[in-house]
Amino acid sequence: MYQGPGVKTSPDFPIPDKMRAWVLGNPGELKLSEKPVPVPKRAEVLVRIDAVAICATDLEIIDHGPPASIRGGLPFNKNFTPGHEYMGTVVALGPGVDEMPLGQRVTVEIHAGCGQCKRCREGMYTSCHNYGLNYGDVDKGHRANGFTTDGGFCEYQVNNINTVIPIPEAMSDEEATLVVTAGTAMYGLTELGGLVAGESVVVTGPGPIGLLGVAVAKAMGAQPVILTGTRDNRLKIGKELGADHVVNVRNEDAVAAVKRLNGGKGVDYVVECSGAPNAVNEAIRMVNRGGKVCLAAFPHADTPVDVAHIVRNNIYLYGIRGEGKSATHRAEAFMSQKRFDATKIHTHTFALDDLPTAIRYAKDRVDDAIKVVVKARGVAAHQVAAE
Ligand SMILES: [Zn+2]
Ligand SMILES: [Zn+2]
Repeated sequence: MYQGPGVKTSPDFPIPDKMRAWVLGNPGELKLSEKPVPVPKRAEVLVRIDAVAICATDLEIIDHGPPASIRGGLPFNKNFTPGHEYMGTVVALGPGVDEMPLGQRVTVEIHAGCGQCKRCREGMYTSCHNYGLNYGDVDKGHRANGFTTDGGFCEYQVNNINTVIPIPEAMSDEEATLVVTAGTAMYGLTELGGLVAGESVVVTGPGPIGLLGVAVAKAMGAQPVILTGTRDNRLKIGKELGADHVVNVRNEDAVAAVKRLNGGKGVDYVVECSGAPNAVNEAIRMVNRGGKVCLAAFPHADTPVDVAHIVRNNIYLYGIRGEGKSATHRAEAFMSQKRFDATKIHTHTFALDDLPTAIRYAKDRVDDAIKVVVKARGVAAHQVAAE
């Protein structure tokens, strides 16, 4: 029977001893396996995972390893379960936890910092100085589920109480998986200064973070919000999420277009979500003097940067990692108030058993896939045979 010292459960939410869990073998190789259901410790809860979205970072981890780091090294063949954009139902409370009732629907953020380093004390727990130290003799209590500890491509996972965010009944499972993506965009805008109302913002790259970056910037009152990208179908969704203008950079020069749309001037902020090789040099030319650029994408190679232009124009560059400073909680507040409809970027749902198919849809953008979600319950397996 499932139990642990000081752990509270309820007969309304029976918990098995074992669960289905996808495990990463060699690069690119996921196997459906069985693992013990984890037991929450102090300040942790057990979340029954009801839905989990696939992120481009998951694809990166599964095929190449970084930014995941398991026991200080590559995540392959270590019985590691990836997946980090999940939501579910709290079904067990660790010792001393009374912050929420059993049965609470929640979404999660990824990083629980150690709580004892300088950055954690500043709210920058995604840059915890004890990052990844949660094994054996160096257990600092840090967790980054799906990066340094087991993640969400399974049926149950433990989460620090600070990383679970209650959601309203009206928010669907699929929408709730998108909160952390909106939270990442929120964190970027927070680090740029946060006072976005009436200021001009460009978002480059209409991936999930870019599209929700448009939505969050608009919800915060930015004016105008300009989205640049290469695919018209994605740019159209950006308009639906609040972009005042969209620019297809295949058709016109991105920097010239931004200035034309902003009254001949550079903008106050750029949120760079494309990771394109020329993205930084374009972003620093899109902002006005003293403007700020947030880098939210991982480029695949070293990129040359025009430092002289940055210095001459007093431009600020910010790298952001993930979703610090409780930005996910703030993004959830926007979403529960229906300030924007994040479900516009959710395109497909599969059963948990069909994770490899779901990953193929996300990776190859089959059928214009953007956010692909898998669910452990309530979705029939192998239902895509007709396509
Ligand atoms: Zn992600
Ligand atoms: Zn820390």
